[in-house]
Amino acid sequence: MNSIVVHYKELALKGKNRPWFIQMLVRNLKAALAGIHIRAFRSVMGRIEIEMGPETAWEEVRARISRVFGIANFCPANRGPHDFDALASAILEDLGDRETSSFRVSATRADKRLPFTSPTVEREVGGRIKEVKGWHVDLSRPALTVHLEMLPDGAFYFFGKEPGAGGLPTGTSGRVACLLSGGIDSPVAAYRMMRRGCTVVFIHFHSYPILSRASQEKVREIAGLLTKYQLRSRLALVPFGELQQQVVLAVAPELRVVIYRRLMLRIAERLARKWHARALVTGEVIGQVASQTLENMTTIADATRLEILRPLVGMDKDEISAEAERIGTYSISIISDQDCCTLFTPKHPATRARLADVEKAEAALPIEEMVLSAVAAMTVEDFRFPI
Ligand code: ATP
Ligand code: MG
Repeated sequence: MNSIVVHYKELALKGKNRPWFIQMLVRNLKAALAGIHIRAFRSVMGRIEIEMGPETAWEEVRARISRVFGIANFCPANRGPHDFDALASAILEDLGDRETSSFRVSATRADKRLPFTSPTVEREVGGRIKEVKGWHVDLSRPALTVHLEMLPDGAFYFFGKEPGAGGLPTGTSGRVACLLSGGIDSPVAAYRMMRRGCTVVFIHFHSYPILSRASQEKVREIAGLLTKYQLRSRLALVPFGELQQQVVLAVAPELRVVIYRRLMLRIAERLARKWHARALVTGEVIGQVASQTLENMTTIADATRLEILRPLVGMDKDEISAEAERIGTYSISIISDQDCCTLFTPKHPATRARLADVEKAEAALPIEEMVLSAVAAMTVEDFRFPI
């Protein structure tokens, strides 16, 4: 098989923007396959054809394409002619000595003006394959499906389909900034936004040098892993320990967590505006921990005027963990570290912090100064994939 046929699905819905979406998808595929010998990328009547070089390693290509958003499915494919005899011979040659308990041919016409119907193609080509192989035909649950896509000047054929990552191509939905802790949730939240076509900037708050560098190393590793999906990332590491110490000195224990979070949002908002991100993203889930009651979430959100997106808000922990496993962040997230939030965190944080009380407590703090000093002290790291 010399080519890969890539099918997009949701893109078909995008009306006027469709050509632009396809362009972005092709651009992302090119970037994802950088360093691998590819002869050509072609947009062919509603699908993308990637023509591989002679030595291209399919396994690596498969792994890379499977992380590109905006793809419904993809598969190694070849081109054949319209002529049924010649087409069946080409398919038989690629099938080689492959065996199966049952098969069917499934044809579509990429060009509806073609002078034959799909059922005719299926019958004609299927019949020829059956004659040579002697395979049993099963139209409803075949063990092997020979797919045919009839084009104006020939046909694609392929056997089976690899599932794609779904979603929308990276870069088609604008930029957002995700508050990324080393925990299980926020990396999944970032992934979900990426999958919807957003470019995600990561912001991590750490308490080095009061605590170790462990949380930064974890987040770096998570950012590196997530970069395999969006290909370029930026990670801001913001020192937060001194701010927490200031809060501890001025604020009663039960309000501290909410005030830490409000400070994080204010700082994140500055960075988001600086980098033209339109919204903040968190891994918050209703009721998961004390700081994530509806009351606390709204009191926390009141600290920023930016939209806050919480893609996990209605999920259960086991669902989030399963997704973290699937995308590869779980094993990094469960490494224990001293998160900045374990530092100076009271045993019994308020579960219903009222905005008025929080604002009163914050009046004792030089909030603007704190935000500015954190922004000034942050460091930035950029990531790329492939490296
Ligand atoms: P996670 O698994 O993402 O850490 P969590 O269940 O531990 O979430 P919290 O600790 O209450 O929940 O954090 C809620 C959200 O606040 C996180 O999902 C994340 O978006 C943000 N957040 C918390 N701590 C940090 C941090 N140190 N740096 C950046 N963002 C953070
Ligand atoms: Mg956390």
